[in-house]
Amino acid sequence: MAKSQHYQAALAGYEAHKQAKLNLDLTRGKPSPAQLDLSNALDGILDGFYLLQDGTDVRNYGGLTGIPEARALGGALVGAPADQVLAGGNSSLTLMYQYLAMMMRVWRPTGGEPVKFLCQVPGYDRHFTICEQLGIDMICVPLLPEGPDMASIEALVQADPAIKGIWCVPRYSNPTGHTYSSEAVAAFASLGNKAGDNFRIMWDNAYAMHHLTDQPPALDDLLGKAAQAGCEHQVAVFGSTSKITFAGGGVAFFASSKANLAAFERFLGAQVIGFDKVNQLRHVALLRNGDGIAEHLKKHQRLLKPKFDLVEQKLHQGLAGKGLASWTKPDGGYFVSLDTKPGLAGRVVALAAAAGVKLTPAGATFPYGKDPEDKNIRIAPSYPPLEEVGKAMEVLVSCVALASAEQASDN
Ligand code: PLP
Repeated sequence: MAKSQHYQAALAGYEAHKQAKLNLDLTRGKPSPAQLDLSNALDGILDGFYLLQDGTDVRNYGGLTGIPEARALGGALVGAPADQVLAGGNSSLTLMYQYLAMMMRVWRPTGGEPVKFLCQVPGYDRHFTICEQLGIDMICVPLLPEGPDMASIEALVQADPAIKGIWCVPRYSNPTGHTYSSEAVAAFASLGNKAGDNFRIMWDNAYAMHHLTDQPPALDDLLGKAAQAGCEHQVAVFGSTSKITFAGGGVAFFASSKANLAAFERFLGAQVIGFDKVNQLRHVALLRNGDGIAEHLKKHQRLLKPKFDLVEQKLHQGLAGKGLASWTKPDGGYFVSLDTKPGLAGRVVALAAAAGVKLTPAGATFPYGKDPEDKNIRIAPSYPPLEEVGKAMEVLVSCVALASAEQASDN
């Protein structure tokens, strides 16, 4: 049977893009060179001055929890008192890995039943990789626009004591851009009472102040609320300046109860004498405090917003009202999440690759790389220049149209 006119039109649209022999990439959730340039003053900012107010020479060993000024800066970023914050090296991901490696000794002192973790989906692939590497089994929990489904989380942790924690990206979640509601944060604050003393909420606040709008959605203070509920101990907060200054040369932060901080310091003490305090001092000199971070991120917003607007414009122009896909409109962060019709994400990614547009592999936003419905695609518009974002999005839209037409004509 001849394929439909609709299919022929979709194929022609796609083939026209293919002729152009493009080489574009929408996979890289990292700052563009222009964004990195905003922090070039870090180089040389200390001008030979390495002493803290208390006389500490930051060039030397020591001070595992970080310099007090950087701990205060991290506290302003992730919302925690400075004396409950550790300022570390350049990667919060390393701190998350190390924190779980420490907890594994508590959870499985002599082997036995596998430890299980709840993972919001779609979510951040590197969280899932940490679990895989540490042998932690993963259970998916759907992320809704106002946060994960708290009722099902509470039921799961109460039914299965092997579930020892949950990954959360509470603000501008990777990849949906959703921010947890006050109700969700309140439920998380007392979750420890239901889940037990050794349960840990891995609160990865990677995009804590990374707004694309001047009226950002509020995010409640989990650590403070958990302290009121007697569950501060079950909260581990992470953040970094990776998307504020240099992604490869920033400062990462961990915040929790004082007792947790002390335990983590003892654990880390076997691997490092002290993190890069020179870089911490540079960051304090550049960003100063919470207001300084907000000012600096405004400059990022000016560079990022047009790219996110263009993604929305191209998706709207190509797909709105056709019932072929749905997508998020984030108020911040680094990603847009696109859902095709079930069964098509892998095909769309393959079609895009054949037309010279690299997309994050389908399934990457789910544990074990397996999206059960094969429909989620993560779009990362921050890195390519604006024109390339626009072109790549046109190709992506044509791939969604073609894959959908193929599916319709097969049925
Ligand atoms: N957490 C999330 C949710 C991220 O999206 C990313 C980077 O994309 C990171 C953590 C990485 O953070 P860092 O550079 O501090 O290791």
